[in-house]
Amino acid sequence: ITDYQNKKVLVLGLAKSGLHAALLLHRLGALVTVNDHAPLEKSPDAQELVAAGIRVISGSHPLALLDEDFAVMVKNPGIPYWNPMVKRAQEIGLPIITEPELASEVLDGELIGITGSNGKTTTTTLINLMLNQDQATTKAYVAGNIGVPATEVAEKIKPGQTMVTELSSFQLLGVTKLRPHIAVLTNIYEAHLDYHGNRHNYVEAKMHLIQNQTAADYFVVNWDSDEWQQLSQRTKGQVVPFSRQGLSHEGSYVDDGQIYFRGEKICPTAIIKIPGQHNVENALAAVAVAKLKGVSNAAIIKVLETFSGVKHRIQFVEEWQGRRFYNDSKATNIEATTVALQSFEQPIVLIAGGLDRGFTFEALVPLMKQHVRAMVVYGETADLMITAGQQAGIKVIKKEADLVAATKTATALSQANEIVLLSPAAASWDQFKTFEDRGDLFIKTVATITGETEE
Ligand code: ADP
Repeated sequence: ITDYQNKKVLVLGLAKSGLHAALLLHRLGALVTVNDHAPLEKSPDAQELVAAGIRVISGSHPLALLDEDFAVMVKNPGIPYWNPMVKRAQEIGLPIITEPELASEVLDGELIGITGSNGKTTTTTLINLMLNQDQATTKAYVAGNIGVPATEVAEKIKPGQTMVTELSSFQLLGVTKLRPHIAVLTNIYEAHLDYHGNRHNYVEAKMHLIQNQTAADYFVVNWDSDEWQQLSQRTKGQVVPFSRQGLSHEGSYVDDGQIYFRGEKICPTAIIKIPGQHNVENALAAVAVAKLKGVSNAAIIKVLETFSGVKHRIQFVEEWQGRRFYNDSKATNIEATTVALQSFEQPIVLIAGGLDRGFTFEALVPLMKQHVRAMVVYGETADLMITAGQQAGIKVIKKEADLVAATKTATALSQANEIVLLSPAAASWDQFKTFEDRGDLFIKTVATITGETEE
């Protein structure tokens, strides 16, 4: 591992990962300079670093800073490579790394790295739960894009323990040495093309995940697309496919409604608590990793039966008088709501609406027709959603001023054996600070409604 003692390091861009990267480097004895765009008085993170004795340059990105003789730059993944500071660093040959790579350098335990366009957080969470469920396997910790910077946890992890790390394409783009013992690719769809420029670059960034693997490593990869199968040839490690369509029996797969791993039957897909075919894929990816790590079938089954979803992502909230409530506040666009609507066989009472970005919602009409029995809309996109609902022939459509009223109305409209689903198909910023706030208010409102009636 790199010796950072007395090395001059520039951390570019703060946020949570920059903060923890700087603190880690400081602990390692590096001479750390942090540069962040936000003014000091507006950045509690920067103030924390100053208090820790770290040099912070706030408010702008002065190019002259690069005249100082830094040994390496740790770039926040959110800062694009066309940023003038980054460009200049590249011109002068300053090595640039990203925060997960720094974390992997100090990690004594084992690295599991998960990437993909969708399902990263769910798969990461499932793997972590499975590893920790079985007392016989070693302890695991989540890290990375999931909201816990890898530099915050890496040092705590002992040899034999595991860091289950969600890695975004932004984080992977800057990776040169990172080497997961088990790498997971959930899927690749069109995403973030604005940042990466084109699909080729996006795919290449993701492939950094496996570029350093050796024959001792594993690449767990979704087998249900020719493109992803082809990409698996890029690893020097052992390829472990997972296939919902049962296209390979070399790893985990579904056959006749049962999950298998290399010919061994594990459980029916029906026991998976999180809904939808996409979650069968996430479950298969996690099963493959768990089996490679020697987790017992009992532990795997326990997690699949009980895990109710990552918060705000088609998260099961509660069951009340035969209705089941789901919080999919993370669905800030049409694609995510499409996935949610496909996830249920029972009729849905849909709660939707939010920030108007100038789209219409026609793309949802065919799925609304199939799955939505009633709809309650609110927020800026309410009228646009009403138009889509009418096109879909939905008979019961109500409009409310806000989420609380919409949730109450949706509950009143719902019948036993139906799903009450918040899947807004829009960002939350017309009425909320974050989609988390929106989801939390939904959960709270549901608790109030169901609690009140029980009394
Ligand atoms: P990520 O961390 O990659 O954003 P999450 O696990 O947080 O993914 O899931 C976010 C949303 O992406 C889900 O609510 C669902 O709409 C969709 N999704 C999750 N897993 C998959 C999958 N395997 N294939 C397609 N879409 C998925």
